[in-house]
Amino acid sequence: MTDSFIRHLACMGCGHAQDDMSTALRCERCGHYMQARYDLDRAAGAIDRDAITASHGGLWRFRRLLPVRDTAAILSLAEGGTPLLPSRQIGASLGMRNLHFKDLSRNPTGSFKDYSASTCVSKARETAVRGIVLVSGGNGSSAFAAYCGVAGIPFHAVTLPGSYDAMRVQLAVYGAIDHRAEGTSVEAGRLARRLAEEHGLIDAGVPANPYRVEGKKVIGYEIAEALGWKAPDRIVCPTAGGTGIMALYKGFTELMALGWVDRMPALDCIQAESCRPIVDAWRTGEPMKGAERPDSIAVGLLSAKPEAGPHVVDIMRRTGGAGTIVSDDEIRAAQLQLARHEGLLVEPSSAAALAGLRRLRAEGRIAVDETVVLMLTGSGLKGTELLLPHLAAVAG
Ligand SMILES: [Zn+2]
Repeated sequence: MTDSFIRHLACMGCGHAQDDMSTALRCERCGHYMQARYDLDRAAGAIDRDAITASHGGLWRFRRLLPVRDTAAILSLAEGGTPLLPSRQIGASLGMRNLHFKDLSRNPTGSFKDYSASTCVSKARETAVRGIVLVSGGNGSSAFAAYCGVAGIPFHAVTLPGSYDAMRVQLAVYGAIDHRAEGTSVEAGRLARRLAEEHGLIDAGVPANPYRVEGKKVIGYEIAEALGWKAPDRIVCPTAGGTGIMALYKGFTELMALGWVDRMPALDCIQAESCRPIVDAWRTGEPMKGAERPDSIAVGLLSAKPEAGPHVVDIMRRTGGAGTIVSDDEIRAAQLQLARHEGLLVEPSSAAALAGLRRLRAEGRIAVDETVVLMLTGSGLKGTELLLPHLAAVAG
């Protein structure tokens, strides 16, 4: 057994405490989604953050703050431990002195989703689930396909229209079952629920699965660790369903409770022009409306009506975060800049973070001296079909 400080799952609606060894991922009383709770008072006295830093590993260095009780259930493919890179050129070009990139593309399947796939599939092994279904623009499915394949857990991917070829190739090669959804993430969610009922699967979708948030919160831990156990002023997050922002908020809340950092960073939300329910709700103060025709080259940003949207807006307000939207043309330009000026070939959803930063700078929301971290979520090698026009530009 491990020495995890997990206590239980707490309902984000009614507060009901539920056993984390149950396979029900939603509240048994009210159906709301849940989050893991730890004994942070005891953890603060028992865990030495400097020893964790000295161990030079990845995600599971933080296993005492992760939700798996049985060490034998942990499935790691050496995810996490990704670098926080200081900007070489782009920061200066924006007049910023402390811009950093959290390069999450350096994970086993090429994206940040490996953090959450590792925690989810490990917990699935511990609780002996029969199979998993997940709606995803692609990265999440690729990650779950790899981890479920190794774990011997059947995995059904529900992929959204527009997923890149490389992501579908990953599904096929890792051995997942690929269900292609028609329409938006709302219809895809319906298909996932039907598959879950028919096959007795766990629906790992956002935000109902607390174990995804647990994996991703470690990205926040790593950012603080890389800054010498300090919070940055802000973290710019390309956003679809908002699990990333929820996870960073949870991560920094825990770090503050542990006494490892002394403040919360502002969490900024970047969405696509055609799919902006969270940014619109933040701007207008009105209830969140769904996107009618979500369509962007950044397929990872397309969640038409995210269930946790109102919670994400609340986090933006509490942390002093801002929201803005970006166009496909801005994303394309940012993608080239990151490749040519920083050596970082990232997917369009990641480039949206830089495009969004430009907008936030132009809107006067970010000061010159602020320490800013951009979340670069995945590899540009996932969507090479979008980059083929550059071949023609260099030919001959
Ligand atoms: Zn509840």
